[in-house]
Amino acid sequence: MKRIRNIGILAHVDAGKTTLSERLLTRAGAIRQPGSVDAGTAHTDKLALERRRGISVRATAAPLDWKGTRINLIDTPGHADFAFEVERSLWALDGAVLLISAADGVQPQAELLFHALRERSIPTLIFINKTDREGADVGAAIRQAKALLSPMVGLYRSDEQLQEALAERDERAMADFLSGAVYPRAKLLSEIRPLALAGQVFPAFDGSALKDEGVEPLLDAIVELLPAPSGKDEGPLCGVVFAVEPDDSMGRAACVRLYSGQLKNRDSVRIADQHPKITQIRALSLGPKGEDIGQLGAGELGVVYGLSDARVGQVLGDPSLLPHRVQAGELGAPLLMVKLTPHDSAQLPALRAALSLLSAEDPLLGVTALQGEPHIRVMGAIQLEVLQELVPQRFGIPVSFGPPRVIFRETIRKSAMGFYAYTMPKPCWAVLKFQIDPLPRGSGVVFESVVPAREILPRYQHQVEQAIPLAIKQGMLGWQVDDVRITLVAGEHHLVHTHPLDFIVCTPIAFLDGMRRGGSMLLEPYQELTITAPESHTGRLISEIAAMRGAILHTENRGSMVVLRAEAPVSSSLDFSVRLPQITSGRGALSVRLSGYRDCPMDPPAICPRAGVHPLDTSKYILASRSALDGAIFDP
Ligand code: GDP
Repeated sequence: MKRIRNIGILAHVDAGKTTLSERLLTRAGAIRQPGSVDAGTAHTDKLALERRRGISVRATAAPLDWKGTRINLIDTPGHADFAFEVERSLWALDGAVLLISAADGVQPQAELLFHALRERSIPTLIFINKTDREGADVGAAIRQAKALLSPMVGLYRSDEQLQEALAERDERAMADFLSGAVYPRAKLLSEIRPLALAGQVFPAFDGSALKDEGVEPLLDAIVELLPAPSGKDEGPLCGVVFAVEPDDSMGRAACVRLYSGQLKNRDSVRIADQHPKITQIRALSLGPKGEDIGQLGAGELGVVYGLSDARVGQVLGDPSLLPHRVQAGELGAPLLMVKLTPHDSAQLPALRAALSLLSAEDPLLGVTALQGEPHIRVMGAIQLEVLQELVPQRFGIPVSFGPPRVIFRETIRKSAMGFYAYTMPKPCWAVLKFQIDPLPRGSGVVFESVVPAREILPRYQHQVEQAIPLAIKQGMLGWQVDDVRITLVAGEHHLVHTHPLDFIVCTPIAFLDGMRRGGSMLLEPYQELTITAPESHTGRLISEIAAMRGAILHTENRGSMVVLRAEAPVSSSLDFSVRLPQITSGRGALSVRLSGYRDCPMDPPAICPRAGVHPLDTSKYILASRSALDGAIFDP
């Protein structure tokens, strides 16, 4: 087993993650002097903007060596807007340290992160930080963690605590404990290790990152109680791109985590159905460039050059070998759309190139051109704020951002049939008839066919199925269509005239014909807000939620705090994260997640400008899609 630990520190914003990372790196000698978040000199934060804001935006990784073990520290962002960045950093790691501030207790964001780790069965240690702060209460934090996270959380600072924990789970250890026999620490740790790896215990440690207390015991615990990567060098290749960085001299650099197999300089690797050649492999480093290592083994992280089109989330080699945690977890969907206009229109191409790089770094940052103007799709207000500073700063392109607009969806009002016979201009032959039915909210889009193979050959039916995701991208109002059942009820191919791609061209026309007949209903995104605040603010919060067209789902008292769970439209609750500190004098915490799409009464409904030719403008659309298909835009 390689002496490697790939770990991430996860925390609510402000719990001290950056400060702790700096400490770990200094202790292990990876950096000489810890940077300071407060002075804006932290080593693990890369963007100047992050430094000024004091939050880490992009997942970064830093290596350190502790007692003969290489620990790769994968930084993770704490804000809910960056849920996907947390997700992708989870791909790279095998174990986690969840940070909790002794002064503020378990915040809702920490609960979310803990659940994300549990879903993926990632072994987790807990570090109770800021024990130096006035009012810090480690006992209370542990009790809270037991109640909110898992009853299996236990403080393992001392040997007695360790031995007691072991005794609770093992009769022989209990007998020894009662008879006063004391196990050496090494034995205690080796007995606890399998329990920690299996997620049966969550060992907690405490200290102060700022005062450099408890940092060495934490490093020991990372080595002793968190897993080494599994996976073999001899196995077939499998890895994932978990971050992408621009590199002036070498093109795009891909930060890769290998699960299985080996990667060497000059290998050709399979990625997104291409086989680019690797030109260089470098070690992770805190500085501008790590050392040239030329190869990467199973379980290792490195920076790979030569994959010039690499995007975050792409798999290298065989995707069937990905561990469970990489497939688990759904990505959030972007909720807001913003138009970008460069101050100097000559910079439009440069802006497009910059946006394309940004979207390679973050698959959830959608970039679209609507009527020739670049638009971005983002997850939330904070991500937007970051981009507003990032685009001019990093790319030197002064740009104005339009007002953020909510991304709606649409569905069909009542069941309808959609029909189109694509038989002109020859040669072509594809006839399709769909029955489209509304489904309950949250059902998504379901497709099925009841047409026998003699009427439409299976391979053509398969093409229809492939074209559905394309067809539902823009409904009659221009928004993505959701919550419908599409049933292929009739149609025909022609043994002589049907051209291989005719059914792909025909599907959006027949589908939209049905949407037009059934009528479109606008759907708007709602988010679930979990607000933790001092009880005295309850009344004010309830009226704020009502003013946002929201509804309270659940109320709970926790000591002097109240926890409100509410649901509200994204459009009216967008700036709530900015307003909450004002409402609660900075003592409120908020975590947000998308809860789904609900009927929107807006009249007339919001319209999304259409990209491309409208399929119901059939002659023009057919011409356009024929030439597009020649250019193989659709993958048949
Ligand atoms: P992050 O947002 O989780 O990365 O947290 P930071 O590392 O940026 O820390 C947030 C604030 O808490 C900064 O002002 C730190 O100086 C402070 N801080 C971090 N760790 C400690 C600690 O152990 N004790 C005290 N008193 N303050 C700390």
